[in-house]
Amino acid sequence: MIQITMPLGFLGTVYREIRQALVDMGEMFDLLHQPAEITDAPDAKPLKVTGGAILFDKVDFAYSPERPILRNVTLDVAAGQKVALVGPSGSGKSTIGRLLFRFYEITGGAITIDGQDIRKVTQESLHEAIGVVPQDTVLFNDTIRYNIAYGRAEASQAEIEAAAKAAKIHDFVMSLPEGYDTQVGERGLKLSGGEKQRVGIARTLLKNPPILLLDEATSALDTQTERDIQESLDAMGKGRTVIVIAHRLSTIADADRIVVLEKGVIVEEGSHDALLSRGGRYAAMWAVQKAEEEAEEAASGPDAAE
Ligand code: ATP
Repeated sequence: MIQITMPLGFLGTVYREIRQALVDMGEMFDLLHQPAEITDAPDAKPLKVTGGAILFDKVDFAYSPERPILRNVTLDVAAGQKVALVGPSGSGKSTIGRLLFRFYEITGGAITIDGQDIRKVTQESLHEAIGVVPQDTVLFNDTIRYNIAYGRAEASQAEIEAAAKAAKIHDFVMSLPEGYDTQVGERGLKLSGGEKQRVGIARTLLKNPPILLLDEATSALDTQTERDIQESLDAMGKGRTVIVIAHRLSTIADADRIVVLEKGVIVEEGSHDALLSRGGRYAAMWAVQKAEEEAEEAASGPDAAE
């Protein structure tokens, strides 16, 4: 009985909220001890990642039948490429990320990784292949070591430190009296947004996935922290296939391809330069963001009024 009613009540809400935040599947089920709604096919095989090429082939999707969300989305990401998804709020960017994890079943088309339909591989192997740096990294009430090693409990201290160094959080951890044994989370040390994100980066580096899904933070970090984090993310992306769900266009101008979504349909795609010279939706979004950034800079500049 409990098993039937719990997901419909409080746990159901928590479950959906966490899923919404694109949190790593393993984390989610450990937290909630809930079985996945989506089950492996009886003959599911482990995903074999050869290069990490991702294909959304004419994908249709709806959270509920009466309201289609994605329509005929074809997204071809070659192994090692960085593709950015941009578009207005509600256009379907995060949904594409959730579908790559197979959090939901698509209603038409197919999603493949290195030619293997994700419905035909085990979810465990699928989730292992994709690392997520979410907007807001979930911290557990445990040590900073546990939080970095989460998902790879067998990681050695040397591996944890190497990941922390690459994520540029090692020096901060060493400055704490209890170092890696410092308790963090609700009942321990509260980390800043930037520090939390670095823990998330270190956690993902330790997992070493061939595919990365970056859900760019909308919440404001200060400019320097944001630049530092961006550098760490860029370094992490080298040699991996990366999909970035982007809110600020300035961070993705170097992407191999930028895909513009509107109401669940791809309306434009190309490189930053190609899209700018095309003078369409992306160029308009870019102009708006530039003007906003310039206005912000003017307001916070040395001569700005208090
Ligand atoms: P944002 O930039 O605001 O994060 P987005 O482009 O990532 O937006 P999605 O989160 O993918 O947009 O949402 C696409 C559409 O799907 C929206 O209309 C949203 O209301 C709807 N949607 C998202 N999650 C759910 C859900 N769990 N159940 C039903 N509808 C949903």
